[in-house]
Amino acid sequence: MPVLVMKFGGTSVATLDRIRRAAKRVGVEVAKGYDVIVIVSAMSGETNKLVGYVEETSPLFDAREYDAVVSSGENVTAGLMALTLQEMDVPARSWQGWQVPLMTTSAHSAARIVDIPTENITRKFGEGMKVAVVAGFQGLSPEGRITTLGRGGSDTTAVAFAAAFGAERCDIYTDVDGVYTTDPRICENARKLDKIAFEEMLELASLGAKVLQTRSVELAMRYKVKLRVLSSFEEQSDEAGTLVCDEEEIMELNVVSGVAHSRDEAKMTLFSVADRPGIAAAIFSPLSEAGINVDMIVQNISEDGRTDMTFSCPTNQVKRAEEALKKAQDSGEINFHNLLADTNVAKISVVGIGMRSHTGVAAKMFKVLSQEGINIKVITTSEIKISVLVDRKYMELAVQALHDAFELEKAA
Ligand code: ASP
Ligand code: MG
Repeated sequence: MPVLVMKFGGTSVATLDRIRRAAKRVGVEVAKGYDVIVIVSAMSGETNKLVGYVEETSPLFDAREYDAVVSSGENVTAGLMALTLQEMDVPARSWQGWQVPLMTTSAHSAARIVDIPTENITRKFGEGMKVAVVAGFQGLSPEGRITTLGRGGSDTTAVAFAAAFGAERCDIYTDVDGVYTTDPRICENARKLDKIAFEEMLELASLGAKVLQTRSVELAMRYKVKLRVLSSFEEQSDEAGTLVCDEEEIMELNVVSGVAHSRDEAKMTLFSVADRPGIAAAIFSPLSEAGINVDMIVQNISEDGRTDMTFSCPTNQVKRAEEALKKAQDSGEINFHNLLADTNVAKISVVGIGMRSHTGVAAKMFKVLSQEGINIKVITTSEIKISVLVDRKYMELAVQALHDAFELEKAA
């Protein structure tokens, strides 16, 4: 039997009624002849509540117990989904991560999947079970402790199961009906994409288009798992949602596929550091040791042997970055006159695989921003992405202007 993976996010299983709705959809796929693996999230709000319990009980909590607590939301939905399916006469049973067992690393609260043995579930399918309901987000460490995969980790569970079982497709049911050219709340012309390439989705996911956990997209790309993002609140057809797939499956590659934005980025500048070989290493090594996710980096023109170094990092890491840099200053590893953090910025990015073979995207982007009177503070580029930092107050305007200029409301 062909295998299909269906993942239901928190809002899609938020009430018993919604679980019933989701189960009906599973029933439709079973009737088509699939063996279905259903991955469930916790009911919406549940994981946040559990995280809150842990933090209130123990501010410097033991990460192993944190995982024991926060993984439990998924256990509830897995059992309820299996019961609901049984009520509909669909042979189903639930599996917690450790029962599979889905093996992970020991990095509690951010564990990585190491192995998914398929024997147990495959044997059950052979015995007539139609649906394996698996609790997402959780696994088992080599030490025999429960682990979790990081917030949003059920997406990654789903893709990993699809890869392990050679599933025909991995359908991610959520509360939006697909991936858009930009945030529809900011830009009313935003258009739902029928298809998007893995690499584009990866850029958009990591830029804060919070539809999929970034790691799930990485995994899908590596194992060429066909991913579909679709709404559990709308009637479905086979073409519903957005297919995230290999670029070979997309006829016309867009030069620009989407405009992403992120409010969670801060700009930090070290003023007047010695411009000498090794200075970048001296600055960024302590930051990496402190676990700071540095994104953009600019070194300005130096005068009198001194230079300014600017970089961006997530807003909630600013304090830690400052501490790391001040420590490096105190120990004499670096020497700067001043350190400034600007949290009033936003990152805007245009993403598109077609940029590889088209020139002029950067020039056009900069021109559009200048016509709106928006000053660019930092620029970075990759093969398929151009990002700029601008004042936060211009974020909406920048997104709308770029969406218009690249005519993203029109299908390619
Ligand atoms: N329930 C977990 C979370 O809220 C995992 C998930 O839903 O993907 O992060
Ligand atoms: Mg999610």
